[in-house]
Amino acid sequence: MSEAEDCLFCKIIAGQIPSTKVYEDDTTYAFKDINPKAKIHVLIVPKRHVANVSELAQSDPAQLDHIVEVAQSIADKEFHGEYRLVFNTGRDAGQTVFHAHAHVLTGEVLDE
Ligand code: C5P
Repeated sequence: MSEAEDCLFCKIIAGQIPSTKVYEDDTTYAFKDINPKAKIHVLIVPKRHVANVSELAQSDPAQLDHIVEVAQSIADKEFHGEYRLVFNTGRDAGQTVFHAHAHVLTGEVLDE
């Protein structure tokens, strides 16, 4: 089985595992985190399987730009354009799903 075939977020993007969709276009999917750490906690993922944000930046910087645009549009709608954007990169940094994803935290005043 390839890395992508065994990938939780590839299965969510394909609709094989349920998620609450927030946004979708040809390249990008966004859904509510099942264990929210803020009033609004959305994960934005590239549809193409890539392991982490560093690989994404190298292989497709335009996709990374687009993820930031989507994050901004969610925050524009939810919380006057302000948000926290987190990419955990590597197991020891807290990455548990090895398909690049941005955590967008917004919807309320966040702790420092
Ligand atoms: O950065 P990290 O890899 O730890 O983030 C994975 C995130 O995916 C977690 O915040 C977890 O709650 C979320 N998740 C989800 N839906 C799933 C499995 C995990 O939203 N079915």
